[in-house]
Amino acid sequence: MHHVEVRNVSKKFGDLQVMHDIDLGIGDGEFCALLGPSGCGKSTLLRMICGLETVTEGSIHIAGKDVTAVAPDRRGIAMVFQSYALYPHMTVKQNIGFSLKVARLPRDQIEGKTQEIARLLQLEPYLDRKPADLSGGQRQRVAIGRSLVRSPEVFLFDEPLSNLDAKLRVQMRLELARLHKELDTTMIYVTHDQVEAMTLADRIVVLDAGRISQVGTPLELYHEPANTFVAAFIGSPG
Ligand code: ADP
Ligand code: MG
Repeated sequence: MHHVEVRNVSKKFGDLQVMHDIDLGIGDGEFCALLGPSGCGKSTLLRMICGLETVTEGSIHIAGKDVTAVAPDRRGIAMVFQSYALYPHMTVKQNIGFSLKVARLPRDQIEGKTQEIARLLQLEPYLDRKPADLSGGQRQRVAIGRSLVRSPEVFLFDEPLSNLDAKLRVQMRLELARLHKELDTTMIYVTHDQVEAMTLADRIVVLDAGRISQVGTPLELYHEPANTFVAAFIGSPG
């Protein structure tokens, strides 16, 4: 069964139609990349899946339930953005535990959960530091930790690594792959970087001007691009 389904979704901003009849199913536990050049509609599609943007036509389904009219915080989804705003006055530990505190969980449970996440993301040595005293990659991991704390069933990423330098990007890529394996959650990952999509994703959805150009495994797209747009974008000879 598909964990996330986008059914015949179109999107207009005023008179401007930016998504055209998108039909897409993402499997349980799948790492799916939405790949395409800037302006093709990746972020808009992701924002419609998590409910930060309404759909003009069509519907969104998560775990078999129509969530088109459901508020973002009730869709069981966590979203990690490229600009990861951490609370500057709080420590790493407080940043990660904050939403649990807001949810009024008992102190020992907050402590236990925070430790578990710190271990998973290898943040244990930095728990008492403030964001200003962390590297870009460490900050990004705290941001991921903050969304992890609520045990989401679906993870959405919008170009989470694009603000990092090349070396950190490679490192974070490996950590995301490890995280996906360990958590076994469904992940939808927006990027304009074909290398990132090719190395991380089980399946890639190539978007071109608000339409799906091709869906396939990295190898399928590489060896059998459906059209010249995909071929040029993936960089394969075909
Ligand atoms: P991507 O993430 O692939 O770069 P976006 O989803 O951000 O693309 O944008 C797709 C198209 O929708 C672009 O033409 C963009 O200008 C337009 N767009 C996005 N958000 C809005 C908005 N809030 N109002 C009007 N147009 C928008
Ligand atoms: Mg975008």
